[in-house]
Amino acid sequence: MRVMKFGGTSVGKPERMHQVSQLITRDGEPTIVVLSALSGTTNALVEISNSLAAQDKVGSTEKIDALEKHYALFINDLIKDASLKTKAGAIIKEHFEFLRITQRISLSDALNKEILAQGELMSTKLFTLYLEQEKIEHALIPALDFMCLDINDEPDLTLIEQKIKVVLAQYPAKKLFITQGYICRNAKGEVDNLKRGGSDYTASLIAAAVQASVCEIWTDIDGMHNNDPRVVDKTVAIEQLSFDEAAELAYFGAKILHPTCIWPAQQGNIPVKLLNTMQPSAAGTVIKKEAGSTGVKAVAAKDGIIAIKIKSSRMLLAYGFLRKIFEVFEKYKTPIDMVTTSEVAVSVTIDSDLHLDEIITELNNIASIEVEKNQTIISIVGNEIAKTDAVLKKLFGAINEIPVTMVSYGGSHHNISLLIPSEYKTKTLQLVNKGLFNL
Ligand code: ASP
Ligand code: MG
Repeated sequence: MRVMKFGGTSVGKPERMHQVSQLITRDGEPTIVVLSALSGTTNALVEISNSLAAQDKVGSTEKIDALEKHYALFINDLIKDASLKTKAGAIIKEHFEFLRITQRISLSDALNKEILAQGELMSTKLFTLYLEQEKIEHALIPALDFMCLDINDEPDLTLIEQKIKVVLAQYPAKKLFITQGYICRNAKGEVDNLKRGGSDYTASLIAAAVQASVCEIWTDIDGMHNNDPRVVDKTVAIEQLSFDEAAELAYFGAKILHPTCIWPAQQGNIPVKLLNTMQPSAAGTVIKKEAGSTGVKAVAAKDGIIAIKIKSSRMLLAYGFLRKIFEVFEKYKTPIDMVTTSEVAVSVTIDSDLHLDEIITELNNIASIEVEKNQTIISIVGNEIAKTDAVLKKLFGAINEIPVTMVSYGGSHHNISLLIPSEYKTKTLQLVNKGLFNL
């Protein structure tokens, strides 16, 4: 069994859906296809929800009408068969009637999640109608029947595995299955989701659950690149990454893959391939257990970082000091990205200011605190790069004009992270591209 996931742009136009139908039937291998909502739909649903929350009836009506019009045009192009066209019209009508009903009830968190689920529900229904028109054998398996969260709102892989097996067993003769990305049920049985961009996560959870041979993530670029193509002129696709390298890159800024998507694949040891719908024959990037080669592979940047410098002479020769500091972050459920220490100070970075004030107030009881906002983490990733000093030497040679504020080296063999003021990001990525990648 193979899992293939297509993002919003890969299904966002009728002709793209046609392309997808060809890719998923290219060799007759049993396949589970995971689809996102059509591009722009989830954003539109978030906006509708915001208008509903603000009790802005005019605004929500305008937005619902505009989205419905988009779908009417879409199905008009997608479906040629008259009776299927009527069917498609009825499906869309039903979903938009649901959205209009939400205008009359007060918006709870659960209802909000149901609203956000409409995108994937519609894209999969329309796609399966298209398959029906093209006489391509398939079964639509609803993600809400097997994708589930535990009481901590984390995907429950064991339960997903049990449930999807039951669902698939209902179709012994079928080889092609279509399902929704992103949406799931929480422990209370309500409709929930895997957070924005979560369709990649769905795909890799399913791949782990069915022990797939591969998890293919189809987007509109030919794999993960060595640098940000929006910032530097020349980038190249990376051939192969280990799961650990890919996790660092996805977390530290590479937009192509959702960072949570790595662990299920890693756990099930299932290779993940990043492929391009527009250029299906391009090799793309494969992510697997082995790193493939040694040396520097990529650099990524993550903005919106806050550095917190925690200084106390009481830390000198004391134990338990770090625990006290980390407990404050734990209390406010705020993950720490980078850490460096000296004998009397610790510096950490976080990527959210949601609980910053509370964290500072509590830390002030133990130490003196300095906060620096608008920082960027530059993360250099590659196999064994933190084992030799060659990369470090080259790196600092290349960026000697950049005022680096923190360095994290040796935490793993495959990552070197630097903290810099965000205004130096473009310059740093350009210098690294030249100095480390000769591009
Ligand atoms: N449709 C959802 C989003 O836009 C999930 C996804 O596309 O991965 O966030
Ligand atoms: Mg995505």
